[in-house]
Amino acid sequence: MELRLYDTLTREKRVFTPIDANNVRMYVCGPTVYDFAHIGNARPVIVFDVLFRLLRHIYGENHVTYVRNITDVDDKINNRALRDYPGLPLNEAIRKVTEKTADQFQADVKALGCLPPTVQPRATEFVLPRPDGKTDMVTLIKELIARGHAYEAAGEVLFDTQSMPDYGALSGRKLEDQQAGARVAVDAHKKHPTDFVLWKQSSPEEPGWDSPWGRGRPGWHIECSAMSAAYLGTTFDIHGGGLDLIFPHHENEIAQSRCAHGTHAMANYWMHNGFLQVEGEKMSKSLGNFFTIRELLDDWPGEVLRLNMLKTQYRSPVDWTVKGLEESAKTLDDWYAVAADHAGGEVSPKVIEALYDDLNTPLLVAALHGLRNSAAAGSEADRATFAASMRMLGFLLDSASAWNDRKQQASGIDAAKVDALIIERTAARARKDFKESDRLRDELAAMGIVIKDSKEGTTWEVAR
Ligand code: AMP
Ligand code: ZN
Repeated sequence: MELRLYDTLTREKRVFTPIDANNVRMYVCGPTVYDFAHIGNARPVIVFDVLFRLLRHIYGENHVTYVRNITDVDDKINNRALRDYPGLPLNEAIRKVTEKTADQFQADVKALGCLPPTVQPRATEFVLPRPDGKTDMVTLIKELIARGHAYEAAGEVLFDTQSMPDYGALSGRKLEDQQAGARVAVDAHKKHPTDFVLWKQSSPEEPGWDSPWGRGRPGWHIECSAMSAAYLGTTFDIHGGGLDLIFPHHENEIAQSRCAHGTHAMANYWMHNGFLQVEGEKMSKSLGNFFTIRELLDDWPGEVLRLNMLKTQYRSPVDWTVKGLEESAKTLDDWYAVAADHAGGEVSPKVIEALYDDLNTPLLVAALHGLRNSAAAGSEADRATFAASMRMLGFLLDSASAWNDRKQQASGIDAAKVDALIIERTAARARKDFKESDRLRDELAAMGIVIKDSKEGTTWEVAR
């Protein structure tokens, strides 16, 4: 059995062979930290967390390096800083925006059951040459100029796309095709319309760094070329992100990295997740169907969002619906009750097998349903396997009772009161006072609580 991953560059599912099994290296483009992350942004985070967990399972926990950057230099950040902190010097205002947003992001994705990546470098720390000698943006740009792949024009440094014979291979765009429709007037200083900015000048009001090309700031793409090389080397195993990043971002990362280092590949596998839409429509603020992770966490435990995401294979579009969330919550309620607090055990081969097929998470969810049934009917060992499998996937990170607490927190229900009423009802039933036990059931129902009696006792859930 071998792990196979779909590679956007070669357009095929290929057996995954790491460059170095002792250090498997993966880079995923991270958030631009100017506002709360939305549920679409959660998709790559969850998908690549599952891949990270799988790689750790295969190669060992200490043999996988996962880098996810934090983009803390961007014009959207500057605008937000000016709006939110008009009285502060820009640098300070920017720091406030980015630190607050990055902290929110970390808290959100932790609640989704995601492990922290091995390193989370910030772009602003990789603009200028560093005391530790790790690759930085200015040095990369100098290298690109020296090798004849970049040029200065109108105060900018631009990447010369015609200097790279196979520019466009990832997205399948040919340079010639792009010439025709180009708006030449706007880009008069460019040698070719697809040439893109590596460095641009900053006005005194904009954030800037002193460089060989004057005070300015980097273009968007160069940061990932710098930070991936800094931590993963000039060629590494896997590069990931959402499919909107294929062009121009990843195309341009490839151009920069390969041309600066003189290599044939930046990464050996390029993985892209499909988009998330809400109730069948593109998520957008103007349609009123735009949800931040934080808002959804007010209503649902993080694991519900996680499972709901994994019900779809990562390359397909996800349709995010309340109905789907309700079903995911029901499923987890049942799984947590069956797996309840089993610690040890081996991860089931069925789980690994599903993930080996290009992270086939719908098959994985089916496998978990099967394991749940064996666990409910079978031995202690079956329950341990089920629990270990869930844990490996980022579920069941704490006890089943903690899950109940989180569920109730999310729904705004007073769990202590519900528990007290259930204890009263159990006592009423024990003394065969069915009138009282029915009354208590009705009282719970009026609070929106559904109870279920079984051999093991009474469980409850929030009716939705
Ligand atoms: P951004 O902050 O817009 O650069 O996005 C961060 C990550 O989220 C990138 O990998 C995007 O491809 C991904 N992303 C943004 N919107 C969606 C969406 N609606 N569905 C899935 N992924 C998305
Ligand atoms: Zn990137």
